[in-house]
Amino acid sequence: MFTRPVIETPSGLRAASVTTTIYSDSGFRTILPKLYTSHVETIFCPEPEQSLYCQLLFGLIQRDEVVMLGSLFASTVLRGLKHLESHWQEMCSDIKAGQISHRITDLGCRNAAASIMKPNPQLADLIESICNCKSWEGIVRKLWPKARYVGCICTGVMRQYTAELEFYCGGLPLVSTSYACSEATCGINLEPLCKPSDVSYTLLPNLAYFEFLPMKNDPAESIEMRSNSEDIEPVDLVHVKLGHRYELLVTTCAGLYRYKVGDVLMVTDFHNNAPQFQFVERKNVAISVDQEKTSEADLFKAVTEAKALLNPLGFILTEYTSYADTSSTPGHYVLFWELKEKEGNDCKEVDPKVMIECCSRMEESLQYTYKVYRKKNIIAALEIRVVEQGSFEALMDYYVSKGASLSQYKRPSCITSKEALKILDSRVIGKFFSPKSPV
Ligand code: AMP
Repeated sequence: MFTRPVIETPSGLRAASVTTTIYSDSGFRTILPKLYTSHVETIFCPEPEQSLYCQLLFGLIQRDEVVMLGSLFASTVLRGLKHLESHWQEMCSDIKAGQISHRITDLGCRNAAASIMKPNPQLADLIESICNCKSWEGIVRKLWPKARYVGCICTGVMRQYTAELEFYCGGLPLVSTSYACSEATCGINLEPLCKPSDVSYTLLPNLAYFEFLPMKNDPAESIEMRSNSEDIEPVDLVHVKLGHRYELLVTTCAGLYRYKVGDVLMVTDFHNNAPQFQFVERKNVAISVDQEKTSEADLFKAVTEAKALLNPLGFILTEYTSYADTSSTPGHYVLFWELKEKEGNDCKEVDPKVMIECCSRMEESLQYTYKVYRKKNIIAALEIRVVEQGSFEALMDYYVSKGASLSQYKRPSCITSKEALKILDSRVIGKFFSPKSPV
């Protein structure tokens, strides 16, 4: 759980991220010590890295009481696990000595640590023996043996993290409990134990007034062929139809009127008469170099097809993003991929032939317009740039330094900022191109 400082708008209004508002609430502060191992001082620590270190450390110290771990989004949970992977030795020596590392300078965090830490060499040795192994597969279960599930949103743009999370969690269910945005809490998942790919959310009509702009229904159609939403009348929650896609509009007590959240949802089922929705994608285009438009869902599908080639080789695609490179003509799609070996960390490289095949597989899976343009050489060969481990963590750090909340961070589907591009480009360890046009 992380917060950002409250800011003041030019007209004098106080503005905060939704999570900061929740964690500031007196009701939350009352239940916090009863339900969570994280202390309020660590949640309000202005240094995200120090906050993360302390929350992980406190979770380890109280490992026998932990029945659930998580964060709002899957990306933050993974960030936490990676932080643990690189700092467990330091944490073990803190636990052994009963004192927090001098690196943690935030006074609130130090005071919170002083209130719960005492020397515990047995616990330190036990954690050391668990962490000091070749593969971290299933580590969450070993470190927190009483944990029953990992709670974090694994749908939408977070789907890409499920494979790696499953690797660390060793069979613990990943539970996406709710669908919410800064503008409104929208729905809950009534089947928390279902697979992340099957999750649907039931929208609760008492949380906001929900309306739905119908989208053209055929997912095979490219975005530019879908209707212009300005000409379409929204429908109410009671009038949505099974299998149809809609853009969500919310009207709230706070004063938003038919606000376009920017999400596309599909009706998958009904709970009694309440429609249930699967999150499809963020509306609008993820990447485009010419007239073709590739959505987030199109991109995800293509990446899923391609990364299937890596699984038998013992590699996991941990993160990806895209970039429309139009610096030369014709422009082309660039995919940044961060890979990880399931066993060990010796960073063996994937056979270049397989990476080239991944480029082809992606192109084959992209939508019709892309393929036509590619055949006509209006778009050049798709490129995958493999980046070194930790590159996406550096990207996250960059966005957090620019004001994003670590609790609400979402990796962009397509990079548009020059600085963000520089961060990834400076960490490229291999470039691969599709050898031929897709059929
Ligand atoms: P924020 O801007 O931090 O308020 O994030 C809200 C956005 O996060 C939503 O509009 C969605 O795009 C995404 N989001 C929130 N909850 C979910 C969920 N359960 N599944 C998929 N995406 C989600």
